[in-house]
Order: sequence, then structure tokens, then C-alpha cells
Amino acid sequence: AAQRLANKTVLITGASSGIGRATALEYCAASNGNIKLSLIARRLERLKELKLIINEKYPQTKVYIEKLDVTETEKIRPFLENLPEDFKDIDILINNAGKALGSDKVGNISQDDIQGMIQTDVIALVNFTQAVLPLFKRKNKGDIVNLGSVAGIDAYPTGSIYCGCKHFVKAFTESLRKELIDTNIRVIEVLPGKVETEFSVVRNHGDELLAKKVYEGMEPLYGEDIADFIVYATSRKPNTVIAEGLIFPTSQA
Ligand code: NDP
Repeated sequence: AAQRLANKTVLITGASSGIGRATALEYCAASNGNIKLSLIARRLERLKELKLIINEKYPQTKVYIEKLDVTETEKIRPFLENLPEDFKDIDILINNAGKALGSDKVGNISQDDIQGMIQTDVIALVNFTQAVLPLFKRKNKGDIVNLGSVAGIDAYPTGSIYCGCKHFVKAFTESLRKELIDTNIRVIEVLPGKVETEFSVVRNHGDELLAKKVYEGMEPLYGEDIADFIVYATSRKPNTVIAEGLIFPTSQA
């Protein structure tokens, strides 16, 4: 894996916490620091801390951080065009930024929550994908990893919009992989079950107690468990695509 990852440039959306942050760290570990990382999120302070942590252990790792709200569509292409030279030639895009907002019946979901989920989970993922495709097609290689969810194959009550968004991710990812069948571009979907990150805090609008309840009576996964799969999938031989990874904690039904 270390050899196949050597010198690759990885762009991770939503790298300030949870799965995105863990994935940045896992790429460093798996490549012995021989990797270039572009990390974006809205909380720049978090990204600064992460860069420090990475470079303390792997001084040779090139890390570029930028504050970017992925829902600001018009900023995505300029962001990619203005990346420092070292980070422009992206090899792996991890479309990770995403969220659920609230758990409620359809009639009660606020317009802000509806927009927030669709903008982040669907539109931003499509926009980043569209923005890297010309580069990947020119090179005839590149990996696109989309964070779906078990909610993308199993819709539950009070999760209508989030489940809808993640069903979209599943269909979009599958369609794109088939569209690119004549290229060496790999398209991979990751569908996690319960992973203890800030996801549940965000979903519960900051209520930490409610957030914790989701994991009562079970042992959830952690960001690094999903990161482990992402790094594994993107370091297979170029002739192999792991199209989907459905990853549950052993204690989740
Ligand atoms: P976290 O809340 O811990 O991380 C979400 C990340 O997305 C943060 O870095 C956050 O950064 C970033 N983000 C959110 N909104 C924006 C935005 N508008 N612009 C830029 N970055 C943004 O959750 P997870 O790590 O768990 O979630 C990662 C992905 O995994 C999501 O797509 C989620 O749907 C999916 N997933 C998670 C599961 C779980 O149980 N945790 C289960 C199945 C799927 P910041 O706030 O600084 O902008």
C-alpha cells in the first residue's frame, strides 16, 4: 500500500473532524508520511491543529489547509484552480463533508435543515466531482470516494431527507462508475453504519446528551475504522475497484 500511495495528492472535504480527519491521519500512516494532503472544512482552527499533529509525526508530509464552505458552489472551481502547484495534481478526491440535520417527521423539517442537507450531502458532492473530472480524464486515472451511508440503502422514519440524500449518493456513484467504465478512473462508495464522530452532535443541533443516546447499548465504529477502509480501497492495484464498502460495527443490526 505504501508504494502505491507514494507521492499521491489527496483532497479531503470535511477534514476538521470525524471520518475526514481520521482519513487524513490514516493516509499519513499508510504512506509513512509520503503523501500530499489538501484539507478543507469551515473550521480553519481545527485544520491548523490537524496539520500540526501530522507534521509533528511526519515532517516530510505536505499539508495544505483552506477554510472552504463546500455549499458555496461558485468557490469550488476557483479553489481548485488556485491550489498551490504541489497540490494541483489531485489523485484521490474524498467527498466526505456531509451531515444529517434533525430527526423529525416530514411535515416538521425546517427549510434550513432541508437546504443544509441537500446542499452539503448532494450538491457539493456533485460539484466537487464535476470539478475534478476533467483532470482525471486528462490523466486517465484518479479515485473518487463518496461517503454514502447505510441510510442510502435503508430508509428509516424521521430520516427522510438524509436518507434521500444518501440514496442519491448511492445512485450517483454507481452511475458515474458505469459512465467511466472505459477509463482507469475508479469510483468508490463507502456506506458506514454507526460511527461515533460529531455527526450525531450536528444532527441533534448541538445537544451532546441526545447525541450520545444514539450509541447506547452498542459499541459504535470510530472515524479510524472507516479511514482504514478508504485507504485500503484507494491503494489496491489499479485494475481493481472496490465499488462499495458497507461497514457496520459488529454490534449493529
Ligand atoms: P462529522 O460531523 O464529525 O464531520 C463532518 C465534516 O464535514 C466536518 O469536518 C465538517 O467540518 C464538514 N462539513 C460539514 N459541513 C460543511 C460545509 N458546509 N463545508 C465544508 N465542510 C463541511 O461527521 P462524520 O465524520 O461522521 O461524517 C463524515 C461523512 O460520513 C458524512 O458524509 C456523513 O454523512 C457520513 N456518515 C457518517 C456516519 C456516522 O455515523 N458518523 C454514518 C454514515 C455516513 P466543518 O464543520 O468544520 O465545516
